[in-house]
Amino acid sequence: MEKSGGLRGYCCFKCRNFVADHNDIIDKYYIGTHKYGRGRAFLFSHASNVVEEPSVLRILITGPYVVSDILCAECGQNLGWKYKKSFHDVHKYKEGKVVMAKYNIIRGV
Ligand SMILES: [Zn+2]
Repeated sequence: MEKSGGLRGYCCFKCRNFVADHNDIIDKYYIGTHKYGRGRAFLFSHASNVVEEPSVLRILITGPYVVSDILCAECGQNLGWKYKKSFHDVHKYKEGKVVMAKYNIIRGV
């Protein structure tokens, strides 16, 4: 029997706050670049229960972007960032999307 209707997704690794729905994953094999280094990350169309920091201009490997850091609304852990604006057409699809590093989130039920 298949269960439906429950929340499936990802939680903050620190406090287990639910931050992203499984259905909102766009790319599971996204490689993120951040001040903490380069590594496997997930690209989501939407994040929940997070706080957005003020927008900043950040130079990433694929070019300059306006981004906002994303913090867990419960414990303040930095989880990743949201793309606010891209300056290259090829990366425009990322605008409004959220990147969370794989080591910052854990699989929820
Ligand atoms: Zn948290």
